[in-house]
Amino acid sequence: MSSLSNDGRMQAEEDMERVLWSPTDIEKRVVELGASISHDFSHSLPLIVIAVATGAFMFAADLVRKISLPISIEFIRVQSYGNRTESSGVAVISTELQIDIIDKHVLVIEDIIDTGTTLSRLVSYLKEKGAASVSVCALLDKVLRRKIPLQLPPGSRFYRGFECPDDFVVGYGMDFAEEYRNLPYIGLLKPAKYSAVSD
Ligand code: 5GP
Ligand code: MG
Ligand code: MG
Repeated sequence: MSSLSNDGRMQAEEDMERVLWSPTDIEKRVVELGASISHDFSHSLPLIVIAVATGAFMFAADLVRKISLPISIEFIRVQSYGNRTESSGVAVISTELQIDIIDKHVLVIEDIIDTGTTLSRLVSYLKEKGAASVSVCALLDKVLRRKIPLQLPPGSRFYRGFECPDDFVVGYGMDFAEEYRNLPYIGLLKPAKYSAVSD
């Protein structure tokens, strides 16, 4: 008989319709992003990395290991109210930043940009806190779904892992109803799985 954890992983794999990015695809891109960031920020130190919890935890953990610069890391929580696959257009910072970012360069790590609501709220908040620049590294970007354009302060940079189709993806930190975050790849659930849970 297989162990409990194997059963959990097998169950999750049965729920998947299609894998969009494999662990190897992700790792390759993370290495490239880490190299770009290390190059671009070598003269903009100290660098404060702020990862958006919970979705970006896995991406952040992998990416920071590919950044060959002295950095500090903090997680921030941004609540976007809405149903399970659509944001409401209102994002609230639900944990206060614990570190001083006045005149520091900040790099936000995010799992995915959809309408842009979450990131534009966060970028404004970090600017208000006095950051010298607020750069963004998002693993996925649903470019076609953008409602609020990302406006970064002068001297900030934008990094994107992959363009994402207009579908609700899970895995590699990203959830559907708090499940599937521990999958090592990113993919689409079978349609029945999305409709099985009501809000
Ligand atoms: P936005 O505020 O840009 O509309 O939405 C951003 C947040 O919504 C992301 O940080 C993520 O938490 C969630 N989100 C948007 N699209 C997806 C998706 O396809 N899958 C998952 N799991 N979360 C998503
Ligand atoms: Mg997120
Ligand atoms: Mg979520």
